[in-house]
Amino acid sequence: MAGITLDRVTKVFGAVKAVDGVSLEVGDGEFLVLVGPSGCGKSTLLRLLAGLEDVTGGTITIGDRDVTDLAPRSRDIAMVFQSYALYPHMTVRQNLGYGLRARKTPKNEIARRVGEVAELLGLADLLDRRPAHLSGGQRQRVAMGRAIVRQPQAFLLDEPLSNLDAKLRVGMRASLAQLHQRLGVTTVYVTHDQTEAMTLGQRVAVMRDGHILQCDSPSELYAHPNDLFIAAFIGSPAMNLVEAFPDGDTIRFGQFTLPAPRAPRQERVVLGIRPETFGIGNPALPTIDVRVEVVEDLGSEAHVFFHVDAPPITAEVLESASEEVLLGADRALFTARVDAGAAPAVGATVALGVDVERFHYFDADSGARLTGEPMAALAGAQS
Ligand code: ATP
Repeated sequence: MAGITLDRVTKVFGAVKAVDGVSLEVGDGEFLVLVGPSGCGKSTLLRLLAGLEDVTGGTITIGDRDVTDLAPRSRDIAMVFQSYALYPHMTVRQNLGYGLRARKTPKNEIARRVGEVAELLGLADLLDRRPAHLSGGQRQRVAMGRAIVRQPQAFLLDEPLSNLDAKLRVGMRASLAQLHQRLGVTTVYVTHDQTEAMTLGQRVAVMRDGHILQCDSPSELYAHPNDLFIAAFIGSPAMNLVEAFPDGDTIRFGQFTLPAPRAPRQERVVLGIRPETFGIGNPALPTIDVRVEVVEDLGSEAHVFFHVDAPPITAEVLESASEEVLLGADRALFTARVDAGAAPAVGATVALGVDVERFHYFDADSGARLTGEPMAALAGAQS
């Protein structure tokens, strides 16, 4: 086992900077997830780690070895792809042992390790089957098993669950987390699915345009996204985002005005409100009157949708960064998460409580997080 260090790693394809000066430390035994939209450079970064691509600049260290110029097979890592290819003519046992045979591992050692891994992954009863006679989830476990059996210093996984149906994916996600707990091998996992990232990662690195925007624990990313894009990308249902106008101790957005004691002293900001920040029937909270457009009752909780008279800001809008999208869209649809028992009827007008202390603020131009503490007050507190 070993940690991985990236120092200003860059990869250029022609005119495209797929990875742009990324520095990152993955701790020994850590499970780190790289997440971001299509084309952000996450697969390229993983392929650079594996040695399947040469870096244009920067260095990669695994443990205390500089592996920047080493061939993939000398890096002592194992990779599992989305399109894992098992050998169709080999049994599960032969598939699992293949990499060890290629490395001329003694036969009894192969048998021992294959047995162990099969036990670990619940494949012991399937060892004599061929891949054609396995379910999708079982095949995926064999692909994982092939990586594990080699006892590498690190695992690199590129969307390994995306070929599985939704239910199986949830099950495999739990098994992967369990497996990591037992083996404790340094793992870098690539996905575009923020739920997968948040449930699997000890830390999650959010990528965009070849850069890592933020790398933190899931709870920290959720509570303190340092950028508008991350705020929009992380969380389900997503954070409600809208252009807003602070004025003294209040803030105005769309048709609403609310107290906002810690709003930044800027004329225009992007205001972020997580769906659970709304509530019904809490007399301590200031309220807005909203017309309920849609209610999704999930049994334990309900999602209540209402319109805000301002253009929507969503991860998709931010990704396309197109003026046309912004101008073309009319009104944002906000989501409030409330207790199922408190869910109002569609078409009703309700007084929705808002916990204004939990507002998030972002710079309307740069997207950077604003602290919400007026600078003057901070300076005053320090002196
Ligand atoms: P996805 O989730 O769609 O796989 P990604 O985040 O993994 O996306 P990459 O595959 O790393 O993104 O691609 C990053 C950028 O580099 C993209 O603009 C892509 O078109 C470009 N790119 C990747 N591989 C090559 C290549 N071999 N030649 C030229 N351009 C490439």
